[in-house]
Amino acid sequence: THQIHIIGGGLAGSEAAWQLGRRGFKVRLSEMRGTGPDWAGERSPAHQGDGLAELVCSNSFRSDDHEKNAVGLLHHEMRACDSLIMGAAAKAQVPAGTALAVDREIFSAEVEARLSALPNVEIVRERIDALPTDAPVIVATGPLTAEALAGSIGKATGADSLAFFDAIAPIVYRETINMDVCWMASRWDKGETKDYINCPMTKEQYLTFHAALLAGEKTAFKEWEENTPYFDGCMPIEVMAERGVETLRFGPMKPVGLDNPHWATPEHPNGRWPYAVVQLRQDNNLGTIWNMVGFQTKLKHAEQVRLFRTIPGLENAEFARLGGLHRNTFLNSPVLLDRTLRLKTAPNVRFAGQITGCEGYVESAAVGLMAGLMASAELAGREWQAPPRTTALGALLSHITGDAEAETYQPMNVNFGLFPPLHDVRKKQRKEAYTARAKEEITPWLDSVAI
Ligand code: FAD
Repeated sequence: THQIHIIGGGLAGSEAAWQLGRRGFKVRLSEMRGTGPDWAGERSPAHQGDGLAELVCSNSFRSDDHEKNAVGLLHHEMRACDSLIMGAAAKAQVPAGTALAVDREIFSAEVEARLSALPNVEIVRERIDALPTDAPVIVATGPLTAEALAGSIGKATGADSLAFFDAIAPIVYRETINMDVCWMASRWDKGETKDYINCPMTKEQYLTFHAALLAGEKTAFKEWEENTPYFDGCMPIEVMAERGVETLRFGPMKPVGLDNPHWATPEHPNGRWPYAVVQLRQDNNLGTIWNMVGFQTKLKHAEQVRLFRTIPGLENAEFARLGGLHRNTFLNSPVLLDRTLRLKTAPNVRFAGQITGCEGYVESAAVGLMAGLMASAELAGREWQAPPRTTALGALLSHITGDAEAETYQPMNVNFGLFPPLHDVRKKQRKEAYTARAKEEITPWLDSVAI
């Protein structure tokens, strides 16, 4: 019999199983791909093989630069925790400049071989359809969680459905917004609540922007995505733009009640309403990243950068993430999970991987790693100590478990916008300063999780 059940042998589930297994805990790892004695095997629409930790799309773990890059720093921290995913990646590495890329077959085989070599990890090919709540479990079934289980999780969390079109609006680094052009205000504000950053457009600018949206290059849908409905209020801006030239101006780009003080005249001392406005709303409690309200889009990434930089005030914008649209299953973690990734209403149930609302192979594995460490501490009757939030692990965890805005919660890659800001450091040296601080502050925490 096992002490903990892990559902999903993807990046997060495999990493969690490794962290628990090598600490001596008995793990059952259930994976629906591959066949078992009573099981014919089932694959998600994106998975193509039966190996653990399959990389469904690109073969890259992105930048390996741990001095200037947040995901590179995350690699570095995971290696310090003896990460299975990082260990297997080293074995399967292929040349890719400063990026860490792998041969996906060798990578998956290596993950499976290392896990299989742990005598107390049992890998079972089976699909789990109901969320078990009476004994410790880690759910790591990913963005394409099988339907029955997604339904069961939905019931337990009160969400109607967890599988939907994930329409993502771009997120901008606050320090790259030009406040000589933009201004802070809420609609109809009398000066009390200045919650939004507003980018003003003249009529000419709006019409040009509208035409560019219609002409912009869009990403194609994956076949299985075609029948998934748009979430209410999550229609892509280019689809709205197609409905008519005024649709956006009566929707997300509505200017009413927004006096632009940069346009003040003696006649209008508070300023005037622009013809159209793009609004940004704070996305984390640090105030370092802001999302473009209502700007979910499936425009190609390069197209988004080009087009959104034509918005007044965003001419030098840097993006913490770009917009996107694909089917996804994830929880509103800031509301539903506690600080150790457990369901507040059913503390036996812990979540890990992309289903918690992180985004990306590395992030999913990192959250799996932390879930494994948390569960290990719990099973051993020890207090879990969270990694400092100045580290990549800590910043990611803090974002998922409470720092992000619950209302606009969307899957997020690790980035320096999630770190407590270092305003005093000159911009040119800031990336190195973030990584140097992280490396210094992680040391005592590593001692607390060492075995
Ligand atoms: P997964 O790796 O998907 O693992 C979940 C596992 O659970 C799967 O093996 C699945 O078979 C199993 N499972 C599901 N339901 C059940 C069940 N009921 N019972 C038993 N087992 C079950 N990220 C990147 O960094 N780069 C990319 O290029 C990239 N491309 C992506 C493309 C697509 C189409 C999608 C959907 C996502 C992509 N991602 C990408 C995002 C994300 O990083 C990956 O999805 C990543 O694999 C998530 O890791 P995970 O461990 O959370 O889930």
